[in-house]
Parts: sequence; C-alpha cells; structure tokens
Amino acid sequence: MAEIKYDFLFVGAGLFNATIVSKAVKKGKKCLVIDKRNHIAGNIYTEETHGINVHKYGAHIFHTGEKEIWNFVQEFAEFNNYINSPIANFNGKLYNLPFNMNTFHQIWSDVITPDDAKNRIEAQAKAMKMALNGNEPKNLEEQAISLIGKDIYEILIKGYTQKQWGRKCTELPTSIIKRLPVRFTFDNNYFNDRYQGIPIGGYTKMVEKMFEGAEIRLNTDFFDEKDSLLNLADKVVFTGMIDEFFDYKFGELEYRSLKFESEVLECKNYQGNAVINYTDDKTPFTRIIEHKHFEFGVQPKTIITREYPKTWSRGDEPYYAVNDTKNSELYQKYKALADTQNKVIFGGRLGMYRYFDMDDTIMAALKVADEIL
Ligand code: FAD
Ligand code: UDP
Repeated sequence: MAEIKYDFLFVGAGLFNATIVSKAVKKGKKCLVIDKRNHIAGNIYTEETHGINVHKYGAHIFHTGEKEIWNFVQEFAEFNNYINSPIANFNGKLYNLPFNMNTFHQIWSDVITPDDAKNRIEAQAKAMKMALNGNEPKNLEEQAISLIGKDIYEILIKGYTQKQWGRKCTELPTSIIKRLPVRFTFDNNYFNDRYQGIPIGGYTKMVEKMFEGAEIRLNTDFFDEKDSLLNLADKVVFTGMIDEFFDYKFGELEYRSLKFESEVLECKNYQGNAVINYTDDKTPFTRIIEHKHFEFGVQPKTIITREYPKTWSRGDEPYYAVNDTKNSELYQKYKALADTQNKVIFGGRLGMYRYFDMDDTIMAALKVADEIL
C-alpha cells in the first residue's frame, strides 16, 4: 500500500475546498488539491482577456447577509461596490428585476403606488389562491401566480424558467423561485443581503490566495487514479458528483447543464448592464452577460457571453442539481451510503447535491473545517 503523505486530499479546486484549505494550512496541515480542469477556482473561475475579467462559468455576484462570511472573504480579496440589478427583455420590452415597484409600473402603467400594486396582484392571484384553498402551492406555477399574479408570471417567469429547467413550470418545485425577492419599493437590487460586491481583479486571484501553501495538481481526474489517490491521505474531501463517486450504483442523479458562447466586440458598451435576461420562450438563451460592467470597466472593447441551458448527460458539466422529489430521494440513498464510512467527506454543490450560493458554500465548508481540524 502507498505511503500516506498528506493530512488531506481535496478533490476539486473550487470554493468549497479553497475555504477548508485556507484554514487547514494555517494549522500546519499538509494538503493536496486535485482538479480535472486545467485551472483552479471551479465555477467561479475568471480569466482576464482584453483587460476584462471574464466569468467563464456564468455571472457570479458575491452576496451574503452574514458578517462572518463577509469578513472571511475580505482576507483574500478587496471587493468593489457592484450591486446586481439585472434587466429582463421580453419581446423587445425592458423590465426591472427583481419584482418591484418599477416592474409593476412597467407592466401596469396605471399602477403608481404600493397599494395599487398590491391590489392588482391580489386581483390576479385571487383565482389561484381560491383553488389552493389554504394549501401550500404544489409547483412553481402555483407558487408564482399566487405570489405575483398571472401577468408577471407570463412575462418574466414562465418562458425563462421553462428554458432554464427544460420542463413545464407545473412540473417544477416551488423552491426554485423562493429565492427571488418581491418588493413594494422602487429598489432594483436583486439581492436582499446586506453585503455585496465583486472581488477586484477577479475571483481566480481570490481563490489562488485561499489555496496558498497547498500542493495543487491540475488536469487530474480523481476517477482515473481513485485507489492510489485515496491511499495518499488520511482524510479526503470530495466535491465532485456523489453519484459518480459511487459508480451510479442507485442510478443517475439529474443535473442541468449550460453552454456558454462568448464574443469579443469592437464596441465600448454593448448592452449597458452586466446582466440582461431574455424571458420569452423563443430566444434560445436565457441571458447575456457583459463582463466589464461587473467592474465598471472602460476598456475600448467589450466581451459578452450568451448562456444556453441544456439537458445534462454524462461528460457535460453538471451546473445545477434538480432538487425535485425524485432526485432528492435518490440523493438521500447516496448520502446514507456516504454516512457509513468516515474517510471521505462529501462537500460542495455536487457532493451535497444542492444549489449553493457562494456564501452558502463557504458556510458549509467552514462547518466541515471546524469538524475535521
Ligand atoms: P465547484 O466550483 O463546481 O468546484 C468543484 C470542482 O471539482 C470543479 O473545479 C470540478 O472540475 C472539480 N471536480 C469535479 N469532479 C472531479 C473529479 N472527478 N476529479 C477532479 N476534480 C473534479 N453563487 C453566488 O453566490 N452568486 C452568483 O451570482 C452565482 N451565480 C452562479 C451562476 C451559475 C451559472 C452557477 C452554475 C452557479 C452560480 N453560483 C453563484 C454558485 C457558485 O458557483 C457555487 O456556490 C460555487 O462555485 C460552489 O463551489 P464548489 O467548490 O462547491 O463547486
Ligand atoms: N427566474 C425567472 N425569471 C428571471 C430570473 C429568474 O423566472 O428573469 C427564475 C428561474 O426559474 C430561475 C430562478 O428564478 O431558475 C432563480 O433565478 P436566479 O437568478 O437566482 O438563478 P441563477 O442565477 O442561479 O441561475
């Protein structure tokens, strides 16, 4: 048997493991980090092109309500004062997001005050609420209509959500849109959290700092050398897919994937905002990101990325877990199996099969760090 050379092996060089490594190195632990990609930082990876930090795996805006998490990230990067205020384009008409007084007035021009908006939404949600008869909404459509009425559902939610998830809104869990705010003020800040921003110079630099003091091997797929890698360390933190780890023995978990198409344009300002969502069901992409606006860039060129949702199949990047009942039950089987041993800890959004914002990821990782260090 190979000699144990490291205190910890970390599979995946994303934010989850970066958080634990930053704590482990301080305690003098020997850490080996592997990733199958040719770079660190997982999905928050940014790459500088033409002086612009491009978010290679989709728009990433850091936000948190937790002071502890905000203080933690400040150790590794300085954050700017970017506030996310995405715009929705529905058949050429523009609307503010998240759903707020600006949106309500854009949709119903006679809605001027918060009471007007509440009354209009109430009138539109009434039939749905009566049909629910005091019961909780069972699916995303019921949740959306009872929350903000039929017009907003049809203009801003239905098409976008069906493209994003590849299913009808009546076949999706309510949890997906529960994180979207509805406000009766003229406030276009997409998030309710107290702290928000983008690390100046990009996320990759921040993650590089978090991994300082660890040995990193890129282009290394865990499954190509599973047995020998497992023998290298006392403990392993695995942030790949939990079903793949167990050779899909109970069956495949479902994921959603994405295709990103980027273009360098010879203009200074293409769309005037970092994120524009296309909420109709005909446009094949869900959003266009213009990366320079995350850092208030004034470069002569601009870079945009169109984001196309797609069905995941083996070999694709699994971006989103599909947390419906069927998949949640299947995940519980894998989790029960994982709980029968204590060498490998499963973490991150793939190891725990959950949608984690960056602050949730850090929070969950700090908990693991406390347990194992
Ligand atoms: P990952 O970043 O996925 O890292 C896992 C790593 O493991 C990857 O690098 C992968 O290559 C590697 N790996 C997997 N399998 C293997 C293997 N077999 N061998 C070796 N390596 C392996 N959060 C926010 O807070 N704000 C946002 O605006 C935001 N926007 C998002 C937009 C999109 C499109 C997506 C998909 C997510 C977004 N998130 C956002 C969530 C954020 O990306 C996650 O919270 C964070 O990246 C999770 O980190 P992680 O380490 O768990 O996973
Ligand atoms: N959503 C929508 N219209 C929008 C933006 C979001 O209907 O213009 C819904 C959609 O179902 C999406 C969910 O809200 O999956 C969560 O949106 P968020 O912007 O948080 O998603 P992410 O950036 O994580 O993809």
